[in-house]
Amino acid sequence: MNYFMPTRLYTGQGCISCHADALRKLGTTCAIITSGNAAVVSGALGDAQDALASCGISSFVYNKITANPSVSSCIEAGRLAHENGAQFILGIGGGSPLDAAKAIAVFATNPALDEAGFYAMAWEHDPLPIALIGTTAGTGSEVTKVAVLTDGAHRKHSIHDDRLYGAVAFGDSRHTHTCPQPVTLSCGVDVLAHATESYFSRKADEISRAFAVRAIRLALEPLAAAVEGSPSAAQREQLYDASILGGLAINTTGTCFPHNVGYYLTENYDVPHGFACAVFMPAMLDTVRAYDPAYAAAFYDEIGASEEAYVSLVKSCLPDLGIHMAADEISAAVPRWANNGSVKNTRAEVTMEDIRTILTSMFA
Ligand SMILES: [Zn+2]
Repeated sequence: MNYFMPTRLYTGQGCISCHADALRKLGTTCAIITSGNAAVVSGALGDAQDALASCGISSFVYNKITANPSVSSCIEAGRLAHENGAQFILGIGGGSPLDAAKAIAVFATNPALDEAGFYAMAWEHDPLPIALIGTTAGTGSEVTKVAVLTDGAHRKHSIHDDRLYGAVAFGDSRHTHTCPQPVTLSCGVDVLAHATESYFSRKADEISRAFAVRAIRLALEPLAAAVEGSPSAAQREQLYDASILGGLAINTTGTCFPHNVGYYLTENYDVPHGFACAVFMPAMLDTVRAYDPAYAAAFYDEIGASEEAYVSLVKSCLPDLGIHMAADEISAAVPRWANNGSVKNTRAEVTMEDIRTILTSMFA
């Protein structure tokens, strides 16, 4: 086995105010990193500011993080944090602000670092301490060493480094109650994608599978409720817990080809991350079952659902993406997955021809 996760994690109602002391240890000035209005509407920003004030920590807010955040926005925010003497970074949001906060912590101590140096992890100084507050049930970024950012060429890349772990993370599922249904569904299927891809990763082990299976078992009921309308508060909490377990699963194993092929749909068709990955889940489940039927059968046994029922739930969460790709476009795209880590990580032989066939059958 291979397990490491040093983030102090608190979840549950009121966890931020109950455990505000955990922030006091990180410094006396912090940069709050978030996006637009979601952190305000969810109540998470207010709860965070109350907690900071109760500890005598001064803060300023950088709220210009967009979905699929660019490295350039992280450079801007990192320099701002540096100029304002921030001693730690507090990210509030879904995956985009949380991943951005990790990168901003790097740029805050390395303000002259450029995009290439960032991706090369040629960081002269360790990042600032990072605190994270989750407001969606999806990313699991609260408990991972991963940040996914969009580069200057509009490509999404993930970086993995032990220096990107949060010192502390908070998850009060009440902050997910204001998520509109499409956000709940896209983030919710991201949980299933994380857990399923983790289970079928070549790096899966007993610990990661335990997290993955439990994530899926917890997520099934709230997701079915989300398809029908709005999940109850208890179901929202269950889905949030599932997202954390999904994060713990991929933190060990990484993801498989649906995540990386999904990046292409997000970059080029603006498809929300969870939908972009989960749309490839049926194809992945086909592929891994053909490669190792016994391992796949154990998966369905453990999650307590048949392949048919599981695929049907995933599909019920997905909107019609309305994507049409010409054969030329698919041919131009496929080479990017040669030697891709997520493709190789899939517990099957996945060739470029397989990816071409999948894209063609789904979108051509
Ligand atoms: Zn994901």
